[in-house]
Amino acid sequence: MEKNRTSKSEEWRRLAEQALWIAHSLFDRGKTSGTTANLSFRYGDLIYITCSGSCFGTLQEDQLTAVTPDGVPVNPDGPKPSKEFTLHQILYQSSDKIRAVIHTHSPATVLWSCLPHENPRDVMPHITPYLDMKLGKVAEVPYAAPGSEELFQAMRDSIGPERGYLLKNHGGIVGGTSLMNAFEGIEELEQTAWLAKELIHCSRG
Ligand SMILES: [Zn+2]
Repeated sequence: MEKNRTSKSEEWRRLAEQALWIAHSLFDRGKTSGTTANLSFRYGDLIYITCSGSCFGTLQEDQLTAVTPDGVPVNPDGPKPSKEFTLHQILYQSSDKIRAVIHTHSPATVLWSCLPHENPRDVMPHITPYLDMKLGKVAEVPYAAPGSEELFQAMRDSIGPERGYLLKNHGGIVGGTSLMNAFEGIEELEQTAWLAKELIHCSRG
């Protein structure tokens, strides 16, 4: 039974290949560093998430670990799921349309997360049409220590119809209808934060 649940089909391999490409691409372009980022995708009745301590730069297939939607690792002796799994789980629970989640500490996104924002349900400036096209409004999650129950509760309290969230003084997390959809969202979040930062810098001469 357990073997069937985690048997690797061609579809699983296609998703894993995409996940690795996304991870390597984000790392190689400096959008994440060290072992801080994590990603996950739905497959069958399971969620596969990057394991604790994995690095996007060197991510391999066997570092994608299967977890039930309730958060129970399918293989208790296998690599431990990321300690930020609950953030992903909350996004999956918010909508059946969410099939993948990506969380990074991308530099401009982190900078933007440290600034005060007037409307917690719309914290990114709408500078170009692309944020709306690729992601929509981004909501803020108040600060709590990474991996803490306080942060998970803050995420539960902040969850709404949005797919994108800015974790205060921490980074971004985006859900998508597919891995590539989540990737486009997290890319646009970082690009918007970078443009906003540059515009502030330019206007101050
Ligand atoms: Zn984080």
